[in-house]
Amino acid sequence: DRSLTADDAPVATTCPYCGVGCGVLAKPRGPESAEIKGDPEHPANFGRLCSKGSSLGETLSLETRLLHPEIRGRRVSWDDALTTVADTFRRTIDTHGPDAVAFYVSGQLLTEDYYVANKLMKGYIGSGNIDTNSRLCMSSTVAAQKRAFGEDVVPGSYEDLELADLIVLVGSNTAWCHPVLFQRMVAAKKRNSRLKIVNIDPRRTATGQSADLHLPIRPGTDVALFNGLLNFLRHNDKIDFTFLENHLGHYAAAFESARKAAPSLPAVAQICGISEDDLATFYQWFAHTEKVVTAWSQGVNQSSSGTDKVNSIINVHLATGRIGKPGMGPLSLTGQPNAMGGREVGGLANQLAAHLDIENPEHRALVQAFWNAPRMPTKPGLKAVDLFRAIAEGRIKAVWIMATNPAVSLPDANAVRDALHRCEFVAVSECESGTDLGAFAHVNLPALAWGEKDGTVTNSERRISRQRAFLAAPGEAKPDWWIVSRVAERMGYGESFSYRSAWEIFREHACLSGFRNGGGRAFDISGLAELDRAGYDALKPIQWPVNVDYPNGAARMFCNGGFSFAGRRAELVPVVPKAPANPPDAAYPLVLNTGRIRDQWHTMTRTGKTSRLTNHVPEPFAELNTNDAVRFGIQEGMLVRLESRFGQALARARLSEDQQPGSVFVPMHWSGPYASRGLINALVNPATDPFSGEPESKHTPVRIAPYRPA
Ligand code: SF4
Repeated sequence: DRSLTADDAPVATTCPYCGVGCGVLAKPRGPESAEIKGDPEHPANFGRLCSKGSSLGETLSLETRLLHPEIRGRRVSWDDALTTVADTFRRTIDTHGPDAVAFYVSGQLLTEDYYVANKLMKGYIGSGNIDTNSRLCMSSTVAAQKRAFGEDVVPGSYEDLELADLIVLVGSNTAWCHPVLFQRMVAAKKRNSRLKIVNIDPRRTATGQSADLHLPIRPGTDVALFNGLLNFLRHNDKIDFTFLENHLGHYAAAFESARKAAPSLPAVAQICGISEDDLATFYQWFAHTEKVVTAWSQGVNQSSSGTDKVNSIINVHLATGRIGKPGMGPLSLTGQPNAMGGREVGGLANQLAAHLDIENPEHRALVQAFWNAPRMPTKPGLKAVDLFRAIAEGRIKAVWIMATNPAVSLPDANAVRDALHRCEFVAVSECESGTDLGAFAHVNLPALAWGEKDGTVTNSERRISRQRAFLAAPGEAKPDWWIVSRVAERMGYGESFSYRSAWEIFREHACLSGFRNGGGRAFDISGLAELDRAGYDALKPIQWPVNVDYPNGAARMFCNGGFSFAGRRAELVPVVPKAPANPPDAAYPLVLNTGRIRDQWHTMTRTGKTSRLTNHVPEPFAELNTNDAVRFGIQEGMLVRLESRFGQALARARLSEDQQPGSVFVPMHWSGPYASRGLINALVNPATDPFSGEPESKHTPVRIAPYRPA
């Protein structure tokens, strides 16, 4: 029995899947199972759970777990494994410099794990080369929020979705990808007859089917749509110039660029490929509804112009002053459970801890002083796609990958596999054995899984919640922060990495957030810096900032300005529509759009363990419009071959009018033993956004044909 609960009381923890961050009550039931309920007191879900969350108790099997450290597949002691990683990194740095090594981490890590990994790479190794799979998720939003607000801040709360009279969902199949939030919207709609939901998405998904208005825009035309809205608001006298004058730096250029790019409603309707009537309805609803929340997700972020797309959305909220007030504001829905926690501690190659900037000498000096660190990079490190290119080119010679599988999830995945194959040294911290990634590893380090880990995560509404252990560690598995700290000790940095609990790390992180000259930054949890161990153990979910001004956290920010640019101002960012990096052509005439399905999570290492979830969609499918099916000789249920300039995969054809002609949707989850028909990310082009580095996973030219085995 691995139970850590003395009596049969449930342990309050947090779901490890999507960025909604639902509270879960877990009671162990034997060593590999648990009874799971939604936590009625957690403000993210108030007791609700989706299919993935409610199946968590069925995903705790130890059958395929990695339980002991391994070198080249051979079981070794922790000391041997840690010393091998430390010595190899030390030797590589001494010979080739700090930029010859890298960490690739994950929004699955807890904030404490992320903090320690970032501290080791930036402050002690002295390189910016720590990037994360969150780069594939919401880095365009990070870049856009910094351009608009001066800092990466989500201004509102989930509660605003229930207080709004209009919810605009852009590039988000919320019903499947953030299901509990969608349940909250549907319940709010029943209570509030004024509430309307608009879904802007090239595909008609489960979300679009429940919306009052679905706008199936042409892929990639979001900026034209929102520039057109800004123009429309201006012509209809709906701009809040008082707010602009009081709280914005520059704004005239954004109006001018919107006017040029989206001169009229008919022009925008034509660019976006939708009817003028539908477009006018959306613009009228937005113009005449004060309480509007615009929420977006990967359909906006995963684009070679994702940052501009997000700014075009934020612009209409800033221009109308609809931000930070109950029922209104822009709301980024992050994909992963701790994408935001990773941002707080600087777990992206281009930022420092505590929302400070790597390119700002004062910020660097401040963090270096706080950490008493021997060094600090003066330039950003390599972002995910470039990082693996550098591995392929031999510029990075040693990489440590934690809690993510880039061999499956990065675009141009075959090139990533080739890079890992050629890399001189690959260390992998993970929970599962026998994964695609583990096969590339020189050293495999067994990490704790959900239910065994202890620490914090931050969800999409800035809410910090505890993940608590209710099961003892299996085999020799260890927390990620422990593994990183013990490697740091062996690299000679023992004094600064002597952590023995997640609590100590959290306190240091909270303390750093308040250790700033001048203040003026939104992210500040210095009010939690004095938490004792019992206080940390008992910590209730709380939204940052938590400081002297907001001792109990803050549901909303920026209602009365208080932005992070000089003078506490924000910026309206001029944006112009840009075409996707790679347009379809005669050889590759369809646009491939990849995404999630309702009952699977990422590469299925957990959700693939229960038939309750795998039964929903048992194999990869390719959804295409019936007209395209006729054009390419494809019938429902047929096995088809998809091919891009980068790779190919097989999938089962699904014909649907919900899919626009000229496009095909394929889920991205299947890997390892499930991927015998090829990896979908092997097809995806590695084009990225110039500001955020986020890959364009929603737009790769492909061709499709019936599969005819040789
Ligand atoms: Fe977990 Fe997200 Fe489902 Fe909530 S909505 S139970 S966080 S997967």
